[in-house]
Amino acid sequence: MLVRFVVLPMVLALSLPTCKKQESAAGSSESKPSPTAAATSGVAQTQTQAQAPLPSAAPKPVIDQNAQVIIFGYHRFVNNVRRPDTEITPQAFEAQMQQLKDKGISVIPMQDFLDWRRGEKAIPAKSAILTFDDGWKSQHEVAWPILKKFNYPVTLFVYTEGIRPGHFSGGESMTWDQLAEMRDAGVDIQAHSATHQDLRKPYDKIAKKKLSPPEYEQWLENELAGSKQTIEQKLGVKVNCFAVPYGFYNDHVKEVAMKAGFEAMFTVYGQPVSIRTPLNSVGRYLMEANKPKTFTDALATIATTASGPAVTEVAPSNIQTQPADGETIKNALPLIRANISSLGAVDPGTTPEMRVSGLGKVDASFDPKTSTVSYQVTKRLKEKTCTVIVSATSGGKKAETHWTFKIEDAGAGAPP
Ligand SMILES: [Zn+2]
Repeated sequence: MLVRFVVLPMVLALSLPTCKKQESAAGSSESKPSPTAAATSGVAQTQTQAQAPLPSAAPKPVIDQNAQVIIFGYHRFVNNVRRPDTEITPQAFEAQMQQLKDKGISVIPMQDFLDWRRGEKAIPAKSAILTFDDGWKSQHEVAWPILKKFNYPVTLFVYTEGIRPGHFSGGESMTWDQLAEMRDAGVDIQAHSATHQDLRKPYDKIAKKKLSPPEYEQWLENELAGSKQTIEQKLGVKVNCFAVPYGFYNDHVKEVAMKAGFEAMFTVYGQPVSIRTPLNSVGRYLMEANKPKTFTDALATIATTASGPAVTEVAPSNIQTQPADGETIKNALPLIRANISSLGAVDPGTTPEMRVSGLGKVDASFDPKTSTVSYQVTKRLKEKTCTVIVSATSGGKKAETHWTFKIEDAGAGAPP
């Protein structure tokens, strides 16, 4: 009996991650019926295909493409503000956290935001991200307990030489042990360079010398890739975000940052962030004690927008289609199909619709059992690029997806 008790959790622990892996592998490698096969063997073949169920899309959520995110940056939390550009009192900070709650703005983890941008996770329509810069001790001692009260996640952007015992650390800096403690509690720790200088300028603050162009490249590499590696190695985490010191950057800094393996780079130019904001320069609102209006203005940018979009856009990457998004096919008379399960359960009494560029609304059929909308094109598609729009009503709301494919011999060739 004892053996069984020991073995069972072990088996579970071993098999769970493996299951997950297999699931996702199957999702991505599932082969779709080849549209070229239909082209060569005619209508009979395509009808058989129409009955074969399309592999259902990987269970990805419906992503709100219209969600808006505001990102806040804080530095030090002190009772007596002496440097209002980087300091704020704990009372003012707590009041801001309360306001987010009162306005119905969800504070989300940075990694949820990146998942959303990859089309892998839904986020609330009005979201906020909290970030703390530079690794100040008061973030750990003063702000963190306040965040815990609200159960809010936070991302720290630390510069490695500013963490005790780094070159530019002091009594007000956090230690690597404190960072490890926060990491263990779920705090996200990301990079903010090694020495916290203007990355556009060829000056090494530790060596106290001006750098030649090749020396500058090496130094920049260390500020970007080097700081990422240090945090990853000291804390055993994955670092995929970079906040530029002082918000100073140029195209070269952006390029080197993205090459260093950062998924997103953050600036200090406050702006609401959308699904279209370039990830190599994501704006943050920096909070300053003497500019409380920055906070209320930031809230206003998303708090005033309507509660939800009239139409939910679902990215084609979340939908299994035939032809696939971006595919080039040879047949100008394709069978067009989409598994729309990720648009949500289709409301009874409603029928999904399909529109095809050059044809307009087509007489598509819908199989509720397989969630598949399909239409066999009967009149040759003349344009080289074809856009398909499939819409459905789910939960009383319209959800839609668009995708495009190319036709190699559009308008040419013999009829089938
Ligand atoms: Zn900083």
